[in-house]
Amino acid sequence: GRIVVAIDGPSGSGKSSVSKAVARTLNAAYLDTGAMYRAITFSVLAEGADLNDAAAVAQAVRDAQLQISVDPDAELVQIAGQDVTQAIREPRISENVSAVATNLEARAELVRRQQEIIAANERIVAEGRDITTVVAPDADARILLTASEEARLRRRGLQLGGTQNDAQLEAQVLARDAKDSTVVNFTEAADGVMTVDSSDLDFEQTIAAVLDAVQA
Ligand code: C5P
Repeated sequence: GRIVVAIDGPSGSGKSSVSKAVARTLNAAYLDTGAMYRAITFSVLAEGADLNDAAAVAQAVRDAQLQISVDPDAELVQIAGQDVTQAIREPRISENVSAVATNLEARAELVRRQQEIIAANERIVAEGRDITTVVAPDADARILLTASEEARLRRRGLQLGGTQNDAQLEAQVLARDAKDSTVVNFTEAADGVMTVDSSDLDFEQTIAAVLDAVQA
């Protein structure tokens, strides 16, 4: 039957790979909502528009011809037919995506599109920052995937108190989470949301813990 799984968490919690694996196990579609925020950021930068111009960003979201694959085995993001799957992972996108994420009009439009995608799929795992609370608060399973700061940095190949380069990358990741959490609270589980702390779990154990939460 129909199943909607909502998974939120900070960057580096292992959310994307875990959500994809859970989708495969459940024979469900997979929606990476972060990729949508990234694609809009790509599009605004490509147009040479000002990311700090809230009205321009909101308009860019409404105009965006955004296509996203929901196949957990075939990642594909397109803007007006252009494949931006790889481009949206570049540092310049990560550095600028908070301008879109903190734009409330942009969020409202993206949430609307995400809800359409979820409604169009019989079984789907959707992941992001506000899926359990805003996009799909009535999902069958709502999970907050957390990990200690140390574990999150470790998964990015960084070390607490490591090299200067590590320190710089750490500061960037923490700054993005800090900016994001001004508009969405993904650091605490909302009522009815189950927390899975992956700090001391490996990949397979984390998947098992999320599947347990889905079956609970
Ligand atoms: O998950 P990922 O790190 O790719 O997300 C990129 C950015 O998109 C986040 O840092 C956040 O600013 C934004 N985002 C959001 N709400 C979501 C998913 C992502 O604000 N549901």
